[in-house]
Amino acid sequence: MTAEHASTRERAKSAIARYRPIGGWVEQPADRQPRLTGNVEADVVIAGGGFAGLSAALELTAAGAKVVLLERDFCGFGASGRNAGYLSGGQGLKFGLFAKRLGDEKTREITRFYQEGVTYVEERLRKYGIDCDYLQTGLLRAAIHPSQRAPLREKMEAGVRYGAPATFLESDELRRRGIPPAFLCAVHTPNGGTLHPGKYVMGLRRAAIEAGVRIFEDSALLSWDEGRRITCRTAGGTARAPFLVLATNAYTPGLGALGNRISPIRVSGLETEPLSAEQLAALGWAGREGIVTPHITMESHRLTVDNRLVLTTKRIDYLYGSRTPNEPDETAYRALAEALYTRFPMIGDVAINACWSGYISLAQDGLPVVGETGGNANILHTAGCSGHGVGTQSLIGRLLAEHIGGSKPPLLAAIRHATPRVPPEPARWIGLKSALRAADLMDARVDRKARSRAQAR
Ligand SMILES: Cc1cc2nc3c(=O)[nH]c(=O)nc-3n(C[C@H](O)[C@H](O)[C@H](O)COP(=O)(O)OP(=O)(O)OC[C@H]3O[C@@H](n4cnc5c(N)ncnc54)[C@H](O)[C@@H]3O)c2cc1C
Repeated sequence: MTAEHASTRERAKSAIARYRPIGGWVEQPADRQPRLTGNVEADVVIAGGGFAGLSAALELTAAGAKVVLLERDFCGFGASGRNAGYLSGGQGLKFGLFAKRLGDEKTREITRFYQEGVTYVEERLRKYGIDCDYLQTGLLRAAIHPSQRAPLREKMEAGVRYGAPATFLESDELRRRGIPPAFLCAVHTPNGGTLHPGKYVMGLRRAAIEAGVRIFEDSALLSWDEGRRITCRTAGGTARAPFLVLATNAYTPGLGALGNRISPIRVSGLETEPLSAEQLAALGWAGREGIVTPHITMESHRLTVDNRLVLTTKRIDYLYGSRTPNEPDETAYRALAEALYTRFPMIGDVAINACWSGYISLAQDGLPVVGETGGNANILHTAGCSGHGVGTQSLIGRLLAEHIGGSKPPLLAAIRHATPRVPPEPARWIGLKSALRAADLMDARVDRKARSRAQAR
C-alpha cells in the first residue's frame, strides 16, 4: 500500500459519520397512517409500501378496486426510500446469462420490460405531479481502468442487440462533458436519469392516500390463511380479500415465502455534505449524469440537486439465514468513503453527512421473480429486480393490477419463468459469501491497478 493510499484509507475511516437507520432520503412521515385494528374487508390486500406495493395500490384503485395496504413500518421504509435514485433501463443486465437460460427472444422481451420501467415512472411522475428532482440525463457506465473498456463495450453491444439503446463515449467526450478524470470511457444510455427516491416514494404514498387506498402503517402482515378469500393477520386485526399481493421484496423470506427462490442482499449508501461552489467548480460534471462503474460489485456516483455526492453499493453482504436487520454496515461505509476520496480528489475534504443500508432481493438467475402461489393462485408476489427496482418494481405494480383485473399483460408473460432454487443454509451462506469475497478481491485488484496508473501519470 502506498503512503497516499494509506492516508486515503485513514481519511475514509475517520470520515464515517451519522448512521441513518431510515436512509438518507426520507423522514418519518408527519401523517403516519393508523395501525390496523379490528377486521377490514377489501378487494385486494397488499403487503409492503414500496414502489411495487404503492404502484399496485394506485393502479388497482384507479380501476375501481377497494385496496388495503399493510406496511410494517411506514411506506418508503424499505429499499424504495434508500436507493441511489437511478432510473435505468435495460443496459447493464446480464444478457449473456439470460440468453443462455431463456433464449434470445425471451431476453429481448425482458429487456423491453426494463426499458418500459423508465417510461412508466416518467409517466407516473407527470400523472401524480410528483416533483422528485428528476434529471433526464441518461446514465453513464464508466470504466476506471483500461482493462474494463473491452468488456464494457461488448456488454453494451449485447444490450443494443437485445433492445437497450446506448452509445460508447471515448475519453475526449467525457472530458468535454466535464466528467471527473477517474472515469476513462463510458457507455451512455440515453433514457432514464436520476431522481430523489425519497421524494418519489413519498409522492406515491401521498397519491395513494389521496386516491383512497386504506393504508395501515406499523401493521406488519404476520401470517395468512389461504382460501377464495384470504385472511391476513396483523398484531391488531385482520384484512380479508380475494387477492393478496406480497410486495415485501427482500423481506418476503422473513414471512415464510420465496425463501428458496431469493436471497436478501444488503446494499449501502453514503451522502456528503453539500459541496461548496469551489468544490463544484473543481469537480466539473455540469450534466450531472448518474455514473456507475463496471466493477463486479459496482460503484454508483451521483450529484443531488442540493450538490451532495451520493455513492452506493461497492461492498454488499448476505447475512446467514436471509436475515434483514436494520443495522449499520461499517465495512461498506469505509469502502464507499474510500471510493469517494479516490475518485474525486479534486474536492478535498468534504465531510460525509449520512450512511445507511438497505436490502434488495436477488434471484440466482438475476431475473425478476413474479408469479402467484396458493391453492387458488390468488397470492401474488414480486421480488428480485435487484439494482433496477426504481423502474421495474414500479411497473410491476401496474402489471399485477392488470393481472388481477383479468387481463393478460404481455410484459408480465415476458418476465414469467421458472426461477431456479437457491440451496438451503449453510450452503447458501457459504456460496454467497464466497462469491462476494471473490468479487471484492477482483474489484480490489482493478482499484489497485487504477491507483497505480493514476500515480504514474
Ligand atoms: C442502497 C441501495 C441502492 C439502490 N439503488 C438503486 C438504483 O439506483 N436504481 C434502481 O433501480 N434500484 C436501486 N436499488 C433497488 C431498489 O431500491 C429496489 O429494487 C426497490 O426499491 C424495491 O421496491 P419494492 O417495493 O419491491 O421493495 P421495498 O421498497 O423494499 O418495499 C418493501 C416494503 O415491505 C415492508 N414490509 C416488510 N415486511 C413486511 C410485512 N411483514 N408486512 C408489511 N410490510 C412489510 C417494508 O417495510 C418495505 O416498506 C437500490 C437499493 C438499495 C438498498
